[in-house]
Amino acid sequence: MNPLTEQEIRTAFVNCSKGEATRLSVPRDLPEQPWEDLDFLGWRDPRAPDRAYLTIAMDGRPVGVQLRTSTVGSWQTRRSMCSVCVTTHTGGVSLMVAPRSGKAGKQGNSVGIYMCSDLACSLYVRGKRDAGVGARLHESLTLEEKIQRTVANLTAFIAKVTA
Ligand SMILES: [Zn+2]
Repeated sequence: MNPLTEQEIRTAFVNCSKGEATRLSVPRDLPEQPWEDLDFLGWRDPRAPDRAYLTIAMDGRPVGVQLRTSTVGSWQTRRSMCSVCVTTHTGGVSLMVAPRSGKAGKQGNSVGIYMCSDLACSLYVRGKRDAGVGARLHESLTLEEKIQRTVANLTAFIAKVTA
């Protein structure tokens, strides 16, 4: 993806107030992010362990989503699969819940997805981060096809958030 500035990231959020988007923690090391290997930028809030955020380009424009995540519990030690990048982790997948944008979100509606806890799906797909033995299914897809699937899965989730 194309590198984003802090300002671009803050103005991209679709499911939180302007005030929240101004205050939330954006990674300080944006210039050092591996942008060429990222399909989306995802990060955890270092000040609020139950918060995570992601930004992805949709139709050429960045769209940001804030997420609530469950704190790590004992149930997470079993193996589970990320529904974005299809990587299997032992204890590395979290339920991420996004308030829906607009009126639906104000009424408390949200959408959930099981996803890599570190939001590094792009790196797992490319083999740049290792989730351990048996993490990747043996598939006949090319890397490009796996990347497309990852983007499609995440885009479908964001479409539900903004629907
Ligand atoms: Zn993943």
